[in-house]
Amino acid sequence: MNLINVGYDSTNYYVVEQNRTRLLIDAGWPGTLPKLLAGLRRKGLRLEEIDYLCVTHFHPDHAGLVQELKDQGVKHILLDEQLPAVPVLKTYMKPNSGYVDIRVEDSLHLATTGSRACLQRIGFDGEMVCTPGHSDDSISVVLDEGVAFTGDLHPPMLVGEDKAETVRQSWDILRRLGVRTIYPGHGPAWPSRVRFRQFGLI
Ligand SMILES: [Zn+2]
Repeated sequence: MNLINVGYDSTNYYVVEQNRTRLLIDAGWPGTLPKLLAGLRRKGLRLEEIDYLCVTHFHPDHAGLVQELKDQGVKHILLDEQLPAVPVLKTYMKPNSGYVDIRVEDSLHLATTGSRACLQRIGFDGEMVCTPGHSDDSISVVLDEGVAFTGDLHPPMLVGEDKAETVRQSWDILRRLGVRTIYPGHGPAWPSRVRFRQFGLI
């Protein structure tokens, strides 16, 4: 895997490359397309070189540019489990945010159960798994080499008691998949083994 972080404004946007396919994980605050393009340029990438896009959850800092990127030819992988969250995203947006509403009909619809086959077809060894807790639509992208892109899945001790068990179960899914390094939506990457112990999973 080749990994480039083109993030800005406290959020990570990861370009993951495997077998000459590039997948963008998470996609900008609304109205910031020029910033994303500049970020890509700085890292020697052009938007035309990004083949696919998926978002870890439909919050403004992670999914604000989905439709604009689709309009530029990036194919959006939308998991069926995320579908209900798409219309809700619009309700979070401020009137002058520049947000372009997502048209789900031209996204690539996929169930998490079929994500491994789909990713393999396009060049990635891994899968997308539902990891709810931060939001119901939260997913993680897990690559077989032991890395996971987890969006805003927080440590169980940092969420309210009502969500702690859901979050713990989501982390346990990642532990069982053999994840060793976490690439979060905000902040630096971290090794998971020590934390899994802190989370009470091992
Ligand atoms: Zn976030």
